[in-house]
This record gives sequence, structure tokens and C-alpha cells, in this order.
Amino acid sequence: MDISVGDVLIMKKQHPGCGSNRMNVLRVGADFKLSCAGCGRTFMIGRSKCEKSIKAVEHGENKTAFPT
Ligand SMILES: [Zn+2]
Repeated sequence: MDISVGDVLIMKKQHPGCGSNRMNVLRVGADFKLSCAGCGRTFMIGRSKCEKSIKAVEHGENKTAFPT
């Protein structure tokens, strides 16, 4: 999956508490650093765990890619 800094991840599950399922990508690597678009909270998540919970990726120019 092609994910880079500045992309927005659309997650399968909503963030508990704020209900947003959109996450901004702050850093990529073995772990992703994400910030919730709804409440602004930041957190780290392992790459493989993160990729399993992604529904779609919005790239910078507003293109949405769906994983196969
Ligand atoms: Zn949130």
C-alpha cells in the first residue's frame, strides 16, 4: 500500500470518542504516526496493524485509492 506523509487515511472503524474515521499521516516507517482529523489526537500504530484497518487512502491531490 502506497502511503506517504500528508495523505489522509479513511479507517474502517471510527475513532472512539470523536467518531471521525479520517487520520492524517504525520510520519511513515515501521510505525505510522497519525493524527485524528476529528479530535487532533496523535498516536503511533504499527504499519501492518494500521494497513489492516484502512478502508481507503486519500492522496494529496484529493485522489482516493482503494486497496485491492
Ligand atoms: Zn479522534
